[in-house]
Amino acid sequence: MRLFRCDNCGNAVYFENRSCVSCGFRLAFVPEALAVHTVQLDADGKRWRRLDQQQFVYRFCANEKWDLCNWMVPAESQEDYCVACRHNGLVPDPATENGLRRWRRIADAQRLLFYSFLRWDLPRPTRAEDPEGGLLFDLKDDEILPDGSCQPVLIGHDEGHIVIRTAEADDPTREQQRAMMNEPYRTLLGHFRHECGHFIWNRMVRDAGKLDSFRAVFGDERADYGEALDKHYKEGPPPLWGETFISYYATTHPWEDFAECFAHVLHIVDSLETAHIYGIALAPPSHSELRAHAAFDPYTILDFDQIAEVWIPLSVALNSIHHSMGERDLYPFILTPAIQAKLKYVHGLLTRQV
Ligand SMILES: [Zn+2]
Ligand SMILES: [Zn+2]
Ligand SMILES: [Zn+2]
Repeated sequence: MRLFRCDNCGNAVYFENRSCVSCGFRLAFVPEALAVHTVQLDADGKRWRRLDQQQFVYRFCANEKWDLCNWMVPAESQEDYCVACRHNGLVPDPATENGLRRWRRIADAQRLLFYSFLRWDLPRPTRAEDPEGGLLFDLKDDEILPDGSCQPVLIGHDEGHIVIRTAEADDPTREQQRAMMNEPYRTLLGHFRHECGHFIWNRMVRDAGKLDSFRAVFGDERADYGEALDKHYKEGPPPLWGETFISYYATTHPWEDFAECFAHVLHIVDSLETAHIYGIALAPPSHSELRAHAAFDPYTILDFDQIAEVWIPLSVALNSIHHSMGERDLYPFILTPAIQAKLKYVHGLLTRQV
């Protein structure tokens, strides 16, 4: 993620900011510009103008009324919602305290997801544009059964239809789930990125005629998915799975392996962009093997090896910093050469090289 500047006073401002802490001017993310800009309400009391480029006129996304979204829609657009929110189907009830709190956390993750989609211009049709396979998010509450017990929502993907469990916006619930599944990492953003990995597979592998190159890297996805899942939960992962799979879950089936790798390419590239924008460089005097400098914008880099070369030492350093704060690893994954080859394939696909 980038850093931005207030167009009024020049203060540093961030992706999530609603107003400048220094001058108080209103801020908004303008998807077309891929940037946060300072905006000013027009005399009509409805439209907003960019302070730096007065000819650009916008409305806020309709979810702004709940302070759920700070993204803009061009004033002339027919759409009520921004490019991220217009993919929502079911949403939590914003009139309830729980619903609004959860939805805000989910919306924060959703906009980070869309930032990467916009940077690479990844396919993102809505259901209106593609009723069969467009991208649709149902943010679902757990069901309370007649006997009072709770039926947790299953997170998942089916032909562009993605279900996100709103209860996981609550830290205790998500942490409990993480521990139960024995996962090293579990976040809302991770869910969004993983589930969208399945959608991207449909669009950029299956529908794009790239099954042969996919199978050469990830194996044959025609293996029965239900059986694979059963086997996974009964027998556990294959021995030495960490050599070739980024996560335990990735061992289940080539589809899951791809979705996990897609999520990781987004984790890595977006985190590295942040390191780049801050000019972060590592130069431990006695460990030259851990030297690294994020000297490039990773969203524009075509060679994934270059990205991995910086990301690996950077993630080691970030993990060490987390340990110093008594926290677990920030990035609890090991990128072996075999795993890097899979990430490289996914990255090649996103940058239209495959
Ligand atoms: Zn300012
Ligand atoms: Zn929005
Ligand atoms: Zn999956």
